[in-house]
Amino acid sequence: MSSPDRSLDEPDPLERTVPNASEALEVIEAARESKWERPSFAAGLFLGRVDPSLIFPYAAQSAEDQKVGDAFLAKLEPVLRKEVDPDEVDRTGELPAAAIQALAGLGCFGMKIPAEYGGLGLSQVNYNRAMALVSSYCGSTAVWLSAHQSIGVPQPLKMFGTDEQKKKYLPRLAKGEVSAFALTEPDVGSDPAKMSTTATPVDGGSAYLISGQKLWCTNGPVADLLVVMARTPDRVIRGKPRKQITAFIVEGKSAGLTVEHRCQFMGIRAIQNGLLKFKDVRVPKENILWGVGRGLKLALMTLNTGRLTLPAACVGASRRCLKIVQEWSLQRVQWGGPIGHHEAVAEKIGRMAADQFALEALVWLTSAWADRGDMDIRIEAAVAKLFGSESVWNTVDQTLQIRGGRGYETAQSLRGRGEKGIPVERIFRDMRINRIIEGTSEVMHLFIAREALDPHLQLGFDVILPGVAPAKRMKAMVRAGLFYAGWYPMQWLPGFLSARPAGLPGELAGHWRSVVGLSHRLARTLFHQMVRHRQGLEKRQVLLNRLVDVGVELFAMSAALSRAAWMAGQGKPEAVELAGLFCEQAKVRILRNFKELYNPADRPGMRGARRFLEGAYPWLEEEMID
Ligand SMILES: Cc1cc2nc3c(=O)[nH]c(=O)nc-3n(C[C@H](O)[C@H](O)[C@H](O)COP(=O)(O)OP(=O)(O)OC[C@H]3O[C@@H](n4cnc5c(N)ncnc54)[C@H](O)[C@@H]3O)c2cc1C
Repeated sequence: MSSPDRSLDEPDPLERTVPNASEALEVIEAARESKWERPSFAAGLFLGRVDPSLIFPYAAQSAEDQKVGDAFLAKLEPVLRKEVDPDEVDRTGELPAAAIQALAGLGCFGMKIPAEYGGLGLSQVNYNRAMALVSSYCGSTAVWLSAHQSIGVPQPLKMFGTDEQKKKYLPRLAKGEVSAFALTEPDVGSDPAKMSTTATPVDGGSAYLISGQKLWCTNGPVADLLVVMARTPDRVIRGKPRKQITAFIVEGKSAGLTVEHRCQFMGIRAIQNGLLKFKDVRVPKENILWGVGRGLKLALMTLNTGRLTLPAACVGASRRCLKIVQEWSLQRVQWGGPIGHHEAVAEKIGRMAADQFALEALVWLTSAWADRGDMDIRIEAAVAKLFGSESVWNTVDQTLQIRGGRGYETAQSLRGRGEKGIPVERIFRDMRINRIIEGTSEVMHLFIAREALDPHLQLGFDVILPGVAPAKRMKAMVRAGLFYAGWYPMQWLPGFLSARPAGLPGELAGHWRSVVGLSHRLARTLFHQMVRHRQGLEKRQVLLNRLVDVGVELFAMSAALSRAAWMAGQGKPEAVELAGLFCEQAKVRILRNFKELYNPADRPGMRGARRFLEGAYPWLEEEMID
């Protein structure tokens, strides 16, 4: 454990202004599906319990499923090439109707819808392979398809709909009717529990009138169907009024539903995204999904699986970047050699290639686990989303840097002066959104931290919470004492005592032992921080973020090792090199995070932020035009 900086024991100047854990985080807890055959592998990393049997052998796609995916991708690629000109789509801000029709004709709007309802019934792996392919070519098209079926009506309907609802809506959606997911509002983004759109029961509860506004609803302006989250009347539970959020399937052409504004963005410029206004939009009670009061839980559970597609899209865009970098770094000669041979460029390429290997390992593993359906993958999906969106951002930024001035120039302009129209500038703009949608990177950190701490909180709640009856507190103390007496000493065991998982090449055994040892260090450090900060730990976001980042890297290392072992068995021994490289790089970042757990610049930074927000440095904003 790093030596603590005593001054951090003073109350954080920002804490006073930040409310306690939001209702959304409490709902996250409620959004857990409690019964799983297999526990979460990533959660175990935070608890110092690394179970190799959960991750070895790599959950590779079956030959049969791969054949289905290969056949679909073989049809998808020519349609994309023929119907979608990504630079034109970007320039005009429109995906042509003919392209949408061609994609619908291929079944792209029903990729995840079961065949019995007219969809293609693709596995999550094949769906994500398709989305990676689309994303490598055109970001806007990828978002059209993903908003429709990763989070739009098909996903929650499949998960929570009644048979009648599925029979009624899934065939329409499979044929190409477009859907959207409406959660965000002008005043609520990351904290949707505070939403103000209401759904008021009328006619004795046989229908509801929805009123309010939904912002940034992707596909919303053109949607035939939307899943809309709205507040239904509070219920009194144990004497206290409890907020109820309910999910409704809403027809896009409903009276009272209007598109107030089509939003424009820096990238993914051809998506249809808007501010929607609901004015007494009448929805029959039969359109409630899953039940009154379960809407926020539904939204969060939809996102648990839905957010696996976003890192798959990042895989596609990163592949494209790597291809660009490989060609350009050898072709472009400056200062006497190809730029890729200069150390400063080579260092970037090494990071990009290693990150891509780890990202693929994470994405295809979590997708396969989602298909298997027996494992709690909420943390894994959040890690894949966080790692994918951050790593693609680094990759595309470095690709732009390596392309130099050409990276900043539009594809159209490059073509206009006779060069190849390599669209790094567009990919850069398209990829930036990934760190914001489907949970910002900051919120993903909070989510993972909350989940990582949960086993301790479950044990310790009644020990540390004020106002708990003495007998209950004593019982909780005994329970926690027994657990920690066995658990804590184990967290000091070095990683080298752990056995090499079957199939892992010998060259990678040391990295696996590092995963185990660092997981123990993470678990005991988290525990020390809990003891130290107690309820206050949730507000120590910077400290928690560093520990979350350690867990993220450890999961990425584990996935990379497992995938490399599998690939080596498939006649691709080079995967071992790349997994080794990623592990080396990840370990450096992990050790830095441990070392900087209490960074001496943290407290002055917080103080500086507060002073700045109070307006203490007005001259920082002088002599500028806004
Ligand atoms: C192109 C696009 C497409 C979208 N599509 C959809 C869609 O289809 N459906 C839909 O419902 N929504 C959609 N959204 C909304 C998107 O999900 C939100 O933008 C996102 O949830 C963040 O909300 P916000 O923008 O209001 O940011 P805010 O919640 O206001 O956050 C602003 C900043 O503060 C940080 N922050 C907030 N809370 C905390 C905290 N507790 N601790 C630390 N940091 C915090 C955030 O990380 C962020 O950096 C879309 C948005 C865009 C731009």
